[in-house]
Amino acid sequence: MSAEKGPNFLEEIITEDVKNNKHEGRVLTRFPPEPNGYLHIGHSKSICLNFGLARQFGGKTNLRFDDTNPEAEETEYVESIKEDIKWLGFEWANEFYASDYFEKIYEFARVLIKKGLAYVDDSTSEQIASTKGTPTEPGRESPFRNRTMEENLDLFERMRKGEFKDGEKVLRAKIDMASPNMHFRDPIIYRIKHSYHHRTKNEWCIYPMYDFAHGQSDSIEKITHSICTLEFEVHRPLYEWFIEKLEIFPSRQYEFARLNLNYTVMSKRKLLQLVNEKYVEGWDDPRMPTICGLRRRGYTPESIRNFCELIGVARRENIIDVGLLEHCVREDLNKIATRVMVVMDPVKLIISNYPEGKEETLAGENNPENPGGELREIPFGKELFIEMEDFMETPVKKFFRLGPGLFVRLKHAYIIRCDSFIKNELGIISEIHCTYFPESKSGNDKSGIAVKGVIHWVFAPQAIRVEMRLYDRLFKVENPSAEEGDFKDYLNPASLEIISNAVAEPFLKKSKTGDKFQFIRKGYFCVDYESSSEKIIFNRTVPLKDGWGKEQKKN
Ligand code: ATP
Ligand code: MG
Repeated sequence: MSAEKGPNFLEEIITEDVKNNKHEGRVLTRFPPEPNGYLHIGHSKSICLNFGLARQFGGKTNLRFDDTNPEAEETEYVESIKEDIKWLGFEWANEFYASDYFEKIYEFARVLIKKGLAYVDDSTSEQIASTKGTPTEPGRESPFRNRTMEENLDLFERMRKGEFKDGEKVLRAKIDMASPNMHFRDPIIYRIKHSYHHRTKNEWCIYPMYDFAHGQSDSIEKITHSICTLEFEVHRPLYEWFIEKLEIFPSRQYEFARLNLNYTVMSKRKLLQLVNEKYVEGWDDPRMPTICGLRRRGYTPESIRNFCELIGVARRENIIDVGLLEHCVREDLNKIATRVMVVMDPVKLIISNYPEGKEETLAGENNPENPGGELREIPFGKELFIEMEDFMETPVKKFFRLGPGLFVRLKHAYIIRCDSFIKNELGIISEIHCTYFPESKSGNDKSGIAVKGVIHWVFAPQAIRVEMRLYDRLFKVENPSAEEGDFKDYLNPASLEIISNAVAEPFLKKSKTGDKFQFIRKGYFCVDYESSSEKIIFNRTVPLKDGWGKEQKKN
């Protein structure tokens, strides 16, 4: 893919660095999630980039948990993140935690103090905010800015020992309160937080801020290319300033545009709200844009990797149509999914001239994309179920399915003609009576009858009942976060439809959680883990119709 498009800007940078033997030609990237939620499709772009680039240049990638915000972080999230990265098909060289570096980072802070480049500030957070200035107006210096190095070292040590309450003091870098870059206006680098940390427990009550943890961790690991999203571009000068002043390994930061997808939200904070307030079943609800949600929905790792490859990397923000993601999974499932027949809204069909009690076994191709591949056995006999919508009492013009007097082919089986139908006391069609043509058997049709339509069906005596969960977009507007009011006001009330009395061919009895199928004419489905031996539950991954693919062909 990238060969067709030419190298992206990151590939160009790394090629150049390797050519110039920068860092001995070594490439070491990292993926740095904060363990405060589950990974989503946006993260997969960053994962594919960080791991993909390292792989491409014979390098390695570290997994580093950016765990410097104790309140929001949990071990459950750490575990899920690892599982999701592995599932996507990537292996990290090392598993690290920013919290492993707390002692080193503390020492870095002392180095800055000793160089006269950091001070302890007693101002409240409101005071600090109100003296920051604006992009066009300089800020004001704190009255604590000129404390002596000794006093600062002493106070900082006492902050660590827990002598002060949350918010009572902070450590700030001493840079320039008039800098046009707001991040240079004496940024806070340490704060007091008497909170339990999922790994260091109660060992620390001061925690470094993002800007004084991320670059430092990169440097400790000797990361060569620190790739992050564009919102960190304005942090880069500070990233470089700390590295220069601390005289540590010169990791470099490069930014790319984050992935935005329509009809969903991707901020972990918002996803957490959906989970906590029970708008969805959990982080792995198949409507969620999370990796575990997509996995449960039936997405394959290949389809997600391919999607990330197709959207490419750019330095300009844009919104990707979710139709492209669906297109990618369809392409992959088309190649791998076993075809089966499932009737969502069954109505009984009786073949009047088929011998009572006779049963035959037909053969169905498991996947026409794989000619000569496996066949499966499909039982056939006198009583079948077909889809209610494949029958019309008074057929309209160009209705090529079933209605009185009309001919149709039963997939993998015979041509039939509808002779009559019966309605129940409620006026609903309850039985359709047909004649079949024995010489019209699929694969060996000698009947000479021409039909336009082929419909799917299930042999009634061996049909199994299944539940189908049809998922649609979680939101009814393209960008719920940009709308007025609360993003949750824009949830799609019809994002889940449950079909509880569908019938399927007996082949599906053996299916296991995660197995993927194409229900002929209906869509791609996979087995949900809530299935039991009494009832198999299928999640619809995507319908068959590919809106996005069609649009592309037109253009
Ligand atoms: P959120 O805003 O959803 O909470 P985050 O950026 O805080 O996400 P992190 O755990 O810090 O989440 O992200 C880990 C890495 O994944 C970071 O390098 C971040 O830039 C990247 N990332 C997060 N969201 C996206 C996205 N939508 N597209 C590309 N990369 C992303
Ligand atoms: Mg973050």
